[in-house]
Amino acid sequence: MVTTRPRIGVLGLQGDFSKHEKSLGMVGADVIQVRTEEDLKDCRGLVIPGGESTTLMLLIQRGNLQEPLREFSRMNPVMGTCAGLIVLASKIRGVRMETLDLLDIEVERNGFGRQAQSFIDSVTLEMDDGEKSMEGVFIRAPRILATGEGVTTLGWWREEPVMVRSGGILALTFHPELTADHRIHRYFVKEMVAAGGRESGAA
Ligand code: GLN
Repeated sequence: MVTTRPRIGVLGLQGDFSKHEKSLGMVGADVIQVRTEEDLKDCRGLVIPGGESTTLMLLIQRGNLQEPLREFSRMNPVMGTCAGLIVLASKIRGVRMETLDLLDIEVERNGFGRQAQSFIDSVTLEMDDGEKSMEGVFIRAPRILATGEGVTTLGWWREEPVMVRSGGILALTFHPELTADHRIHRYFVKEMVAAGGRESGAA
């Protein structure tokens, strides 16, 4: 039997992309690092990792990748974690910062302040019928302050959304690549990429 592993790119400009490569590999993806428009060509999905969103955005601009990434997202699913979520968001509170503007949410960078900058706590998932809780690793995490129409919350920390989806865009404020629990990567690969692009599943 021939099984095809969907090719997923991990934006390899900055941040913790190698951990995502491992997690995606564990759930059956064929993973490549994406640094140029050319690299995107054969990918059927893309992960934008955590790191530093201002640096990440600067490198995207330097590589003239804004439009290629926007274009890619019209046809293929994209998942952003932490700084990757910031880069996808339409609005960043209090700062003027260009983003890819692909997800109708308002976020606050480093939203947990100094006292609770980084922490690990239980997150409640609503993405499938399985086990509902997961360990969430938050590192200088952004906070989602508001979600627009068509944005569904799939993960909660206490009363606030920490994982959202709109069509083919999935975004998380925490780091699923830093734990051995690969449910979120599996969801992205199986339910979004393999299921046929951005129109599949929850809107
Ligand atoms: N605080 C970072 C930013 O604002 C994000 C941190 C992370 O990705 N772990 O870009």
